[in-house]
Amino acid sequence: MKLGGRALKIVLGVGIVIFGLIKYYGSQEENPYTGRTQAISLTTEEEIAIGLQNAPIMAEQHGGMHPDQQLQNMVDRVGKKLVDNTIARETPYQYEFHLLRDPKTVNAFALPGGQIFITYALLERLSTEDQLAGILGHEIGHVVGRHSAERIAQSELANTVATGAQVGADAGMLASQLGQTLLLKNGRGDELESDDLGVKFMLDAGYDPEALIEVMQILKEASGGQRVPEFQSSHPDPENRIAKIKEAIEKYRG
Ligand SMILES: [Zn+2]
Repeated sequence: MKLGGRALKIVLGVGIVIFGLIKYYGSQEENPYTGRTQAISLTTEEEIAIGLQNAPIMAEQHGGMHPDQQLQNMVDRVGKKLVDNTIARETPYQYEFHLLRDPKTVNAFALPGGQIFITYALLERLSTEDQLAGILGHEIGHVVGRHSAERIAQSELANTVATGAQVGADAGMLASQLGQTLLLKNGRGDELESDDLGVKFMLDAGYDPEALIEVMQILKEASGGQRVPEFQSSHPDPENRIAKIKEAIEKYRG
């Protein structure tokens, strides 16, 4: 039997996609802190190294560190209290909390391995320590949930699938669409898992988890006309997020 050029391309394209899928599903492991199975292609050491490498770059994009040492200390203290009283303490990550000078961008984010940031623009909108704990708890959730590492594994898969799609045309296109759907779904899942873990960490550290709902409202107000990356349209909608936070509070309060 002789394969025509087009058929051969499809076979090759599908082969590349299958190779990518085998690699992706072969790198699945259970996260011991969340119990969730996820595909990860980085070691924890690599995650920590990536975080440390990128921390100065991220800081620079937000005007560097905030010069007020007392405010820095407060962010440190709340972050440390959250780590010391929760399962975050048992993870191999090195948590560091940074207050960024940026007075305009309302944002908080985490790099893999434990580097966590909040901008002054967000901090100044908060009125209680519990609200700050809500934000930092959510960000610790991204680290413990290994969301960045998971995204990296997914984008490797997406790249492989895209290559397969280029080679194999039709069949590859279908696989590519499936890959895209998978990526979107998981992006929303990250936020919900971090909210859930945030609630748990707040309770374990003695903070009032209702403050995370207040944070959602603060972010919602701040998003009026302004860019709030932690709260973009690609994220779960605010009302849905608040409903899930309420469920988590009931679940963990028992
Ligand atoms: Zn988040």
